[in-house]
Amino acid sequence: MIIYIDKAHIKHKKVLLRVDFNVSMKGSKITDDARIRATLPTIQKLLKDNNRLIIVSHLGRPDGWDEKFLLRPIALRLHKYLPNIKLIVVDDFTTEGAAKIFEEQKVGEIIFLENIRFFKEEEDPSTSSGQEFVKNLASLADVYVNDAFGVSHRDCASITEVPKFLPHYGGLLMEREVETIGHAMRHPTHPFAAIIGGAKVSTKLKLLFKLTEKADYLILGGGLANTLLYALGYPVGKSLCEKDCVDEVKKIVRHAKEHKTKILLPRDVVVGDKNDTGKAGVVKKISDIDHNDDILDIGPESQADYAKAILSSKTLIWNGPVGYMENPEYARGTDFLYYTIAQNKSLISIVGGGDTLAAISKKEYLSTITHISTGGGAMLEYIENGTLPGIEALKK
Ligand code: ADP
Ligand code: MG
Repeated sequence: MIIYIDKAHIKHKKVLLRVDFNVSMKGSKITDDARIRATLPTIQKLLKDNNRLIIVSHLGRPDGWDEKFLLRPIALRLHKYLPNIKLIVVDDFTTEGAAKIFEEQKVGEIIFLENIRFFKEEEDPSTSSGQEFVKNLASLADVYVNDAFGVSHRDCASITEVPKFLPHYGGLLMEREVETIGHAMRHPTHPFAAIIGGAKVSTKLKLLFKLTEKADYLILGGGLANTLLYALGYPVGKSLCEKDCVDEVKKIVRHAKEHKTKILLPRDVVVGDKNDTGKAGVVKKISDIDHNDDILDIGPESQADYAKAILSSKTLIWNGPVGYMENPEYARGTDFLYYTIAQNKSLISIVGGGDTLAAISKKEYLSTITHISTGGGAMLEYIENGTLPGIEALKK
């Protein structure tokens, strides 16, 4: 059982709060701060209860201290949302200078630790210096709260180790992620549809296996669908296709039959040049693909097919665009599916994945989506395994 902070009565404590502020950035500019906004309810609740917060996050994949991966711009953005809160950034929490700052922290002030991945021990906590690091981190606080669903698939010091040394709780975002995705997977209201797209099937084989056991419709698109088309004997020309996955993919098709899950594959596609943004692609039936065709999107007949399944469903999970959406010419299938999902007012919809969110995050009707997950890889692993290392660490 995980205890979440809304049931935990954490008051007047020093709280080490792990968040996932690994937001998309261009240089030092934040391009999307959804992950920061999603954590605000947890931060506000803990502040309201007179706790002193020490916030821990990572950003990117730095190798030691690196100006390019400073969390400062993110701390500034957080300050914009909490203008009345004093926010102090601490570069290295292990120094004596820092010890004084922790001692003098007042109720209502937030201490923000610089990128926790500047310390190599964060990702390698099992060594003796790693264990030292974990104890140091834990010694800063009275309790530990994990609101970082998006990194809870990682065995990191601040995710799976620190909770061994402190009373530990889940944050409100963690609660929403675990409850909504968990409920959809365990007790979906049927019909249950999963749309899986993206480039490679190889990274999503386990996910597809799991979903064939659960879903009524497995709606496939993107480069991933090309490999299935190829395995079923259709020509795919020079499209993205992982021929070494054919055996696995055939197993998925058989598995789906056994579980009476209907796999929907494109019947028509759009082919063209993915780097040419000025020229529309050509619609072709999947039996008519030439050796030099590159499949870049689903076609209109497939759109209609997929829409029928989406509109008749009650629960839906979506990860992966169904076309090469970086080129707007090939984003139409993905757009079409998004608007179809938005039209189905009785649908419980869960959407996740970095590129999938990039494809929809600036669109209207976003509030019609039941749950936009802050986890890409974490969401997929949570669906595959029903839990994550960081979630297990909160149970013990
Ligand atoms: P997410 O980040 O949402 O989990 P993925 O990373 O799995 O999604 O997939 C997104 C990528 O898949 C995009 O870069 C997109 O261009 C690519 N993609 C989708 N369809 C195709 C296609 N037909 N050919 C090549 N790449 C594709
Ligand atoms: Mg991606």
